[in-house]
Amino acid sequence: MGIFGKNHNKTGYWTQHAHLFKGDIYECSVCHNPAKKPYKNCPKCNARMKRSKYDPQWIDELEMLDAIFCD
Ligand SMILES: [Zn+2]
Repeated sequence: MGIFGKNHNKTGYWTQHAHLFKGDIYECSVCHNPAKKPYKNCPKCNARMKRSKYDPQWIDELEMLDAIFCD
């Protein structure tokens, strides 16, 4: 334990959810906490973040728009 607590050795990464009409959201891989910025440590579970993964959801959203307009 010590001053860092039990989460000291936890590591994770951000999954960047990019949206067409909303701001990007970064999701913690450990606790799935959504954050607005890719912090060095998750503000919720305090996991140390190694990298971030880009998950462009706007591609799905574009396909949905296509489906609407090409109907
Ligand atoms: Zn977390």
